[in-house]
Amino acid sequence: MNLIFNPFQRNNTPTSVLLVYTGGTIGMKADPVDGTLKPFDFSGILEEVPELRKFAMKIDSYAFNPLIDSSDVEPALWQALARLIRDRYDDYDGFVILHGTDTMAYSASALSFMLDNLGKSVVFTGSQLPIGEPRTDGKENLISAVEIATAKDSHGRPMVPEVCICFNSQLLRGNRSVKVNATGFDAFKSPNYPLLATAGINIKYNNSFIHYGYDRRKGLTIHTDLDTRVSVLKLHPGITEQAVRDILLGDGSRAVILETYGSGNAPCQPWFLALVREAAARGKILLNVTQCLSGYVDMDRYATGRSLKDAGVICGHDITTESALGKLFYLMGENTGNERVKALLEKNLKGEISK
Ligand code: ASP
Repeated sequence: MNLIFNPFQRNNTPTSVLLVYTGGTIGMKADPVDGTLKPFDFSGILEEVPELRKFAMKIDSYAFNPLIDSSDVEPALWQALARLIRDRYDDYDGFVILHGTDTMAYSASALSFMLDNLGKSVVFTGSQLPIGEPRTDGKENLISAVEIATAKDSHGRPMVPEVCICFNSQLLRGNRSVKVNATGFDAFKSPNYPLLATAGINIKYNNSFIHYGYDRRKGLTIHTDLDTRVSVLKLHPGITEQAVRDILLGDGSRAVILETYGSGNAPCQPWFLALVREAAARGKILLNVTQCLSGYVDMDRYATGRSLKDAGVICGHDITTESALGKLFYLMGENTGNERVKALLEKNLKGEISK
């Protein structure tokens, strides 16, 4: 743990935030030799973002080792993050996780299930341009994330006790977020849920959409047992029987996320439905998630969706694939039997589905 800023204290209890750096563009600098982006020493973050000194708060930093491009994120990182937040929970008013944008929506989704009874903000942020670049979006993202992670209402309660993503002046619920732009600053969207806040001249909180349901008498609990035996089958015209067979019936998966068309539709060919039925009969958990960015699965709308329902496929409603993955890892890791997992997939656990 590296204390990087300890300003004046009010009532001996200054507002405090822990910045956790996992890697990603935000903390990278161009290597003078080969020009590739490489992580810089995160303890120097105040030199890169001196604006942070203006906050009257204690800002500590913690950097993972090794720092990774988020394409290398594994569930082990989520487990480490959950443990870190639990261990430091009483020491900080909020947590900011600096993370590569590529898999940020997966990590924020997974953490939303792994942190139970969360009563503080856990705000993921990152950037499209490294923080050392003149036109970087990283400074604004980081400064807004710090402000939001430590914001309290007039009763001293956190404004956003959720796992969320702060990016491009928007605050999104973590398990509703998707990366939608590989190069623009507007990298994330929450297509099926309103923004939790927007950062303009003031930060405007969308209180009626923020979840405040934590029990203040109880502390945070974490769930770090994850069962990662999940595959994703993305349908496309021309998909072969062999490809579907390999994914649906492969030994390595306990659950398969079916990324279907439109409102949850799939081919009606007998070979396809026979494979779905066989996978269901073998006890696989099959979850229907739409490939569309917005809208939801309704398996009663078309015959092509109805046949999936009849074959035993569970409705994913408007869940994202990112969130479905984290939800399945968490539910299956809880030593829950498949029938119970299926029942819980239909339930809104952490605001991940509109139901
Ligand atoms: N490849 C980088 C990562 O996800 C991109 C970024 O940080 O925006 O780590």
